[in-house]
This record gives sequence, structure tokens and C-alpha cells, in this order.
Amino acid sequence: MRGEAEYRDDGEGLLEKPGDAVLVRRGTLRSVLLRCPDGCGETLVVNLDPRAGKAWKLDMRTGKATLYPSVWRDGGCGSHFIVWRGHVLWCDRFEEGNVEPSYDAAALERRVLEALRRRELRSAEQIAVELDEIPWEVARAGHALARRRLVVCGSGRQRDWFALP
Ligand SMILES: [Zn+2]
Repeated sequence: MRGEAEYRDDGEGLLEKPGDAVLVRRGTLRSVLLRCPDGCGETLVVNLDPRAGKAWKLDMRTGKATLYPSVWRDGGCGSHFIVWRGHVLWCDRFEEGNVEPSYDAAALERRVLEALRRRELRSAEQIAVELDEIPWEVARAGHALARRRLVVCGSGRQRDWFALP
């Protein structure tokens, strides 16, 4: 995160390297400018303002940016990635280069387990809001619990939805 700007044009000047980001704030948070992390040189504008259409959620805990949901470029380079505690994780390529951030997964798994209900699927996003946690981490916790058969998860569009068996 390179800083903040009032307008996109001012913010662009602060972007130097792939993965650099600048917050655009005029009164409220408007967007994140992101120099595309794949090195293609494009600037991605990720909307944070629900009044301006589909909006992403920005979390800045411990000073590191998390965006939810994933960022997907339809045109151009077609990059698809998630931003999680300042790390960029590719969704569908370069996967061997992905490095996940560290956090207390065991403590979160216990809290997620407590938040789940029997035979009623709840989304990782919904549980994350309730617990004030990051949706990527709630989803990881849910799948870790599912591998130990402590919870069940949905499929397809509900693959990050979880319930007690
Ligand atoms: Zn790109």
C-alpha cells in the first residue's frame, strides 16, 4: 500500500511496481488502484463504494490489505487473484508461487465451529461478518474442518458454505 489520493490521476503517480496499491478517498473510501500484480503494467480500479455499483470489501487489519471477493480482469491479461493480508494469491495460474499469510488457524477453526448450525449451510462471508474475521480465513477453516469430517460443505457456488453434519 503506497498511500492515499483524492483522485485516480493523483494516485496513479504513486504506483511503481506490480502489486503496488493506492487508496482513493474523497470523504469516504472510493476505490483501490492496483498496479496489476502480473506485471502487464495495467492499473486495476477496484471499487469499494457500494453507491457506485458492485463493491469489494477492504480489510486493513494489522496494516495489511485484504480484498473480498477475488479480483478478476475480464479483458486484457485476464488476471484472477485474491489479496489476503498483503499477499497476492493467484486463483488459476502461477499457483506454485502462492504464499499464504500466517494467522492463528487453530483458534479460528474453533470459533467457526461454534458459529455453525446443524444441517443449515452458512457462507464463509456471512460467518466472517459475524465473527469479524476475514472471509478467506473462514473458508480455509471450514475446509480444514470438513477434511476432518467435523463439518460438511456445499458444492458449486456454495463450495464455501458450511454446516454441522
Ligand atoms: Zn495484468
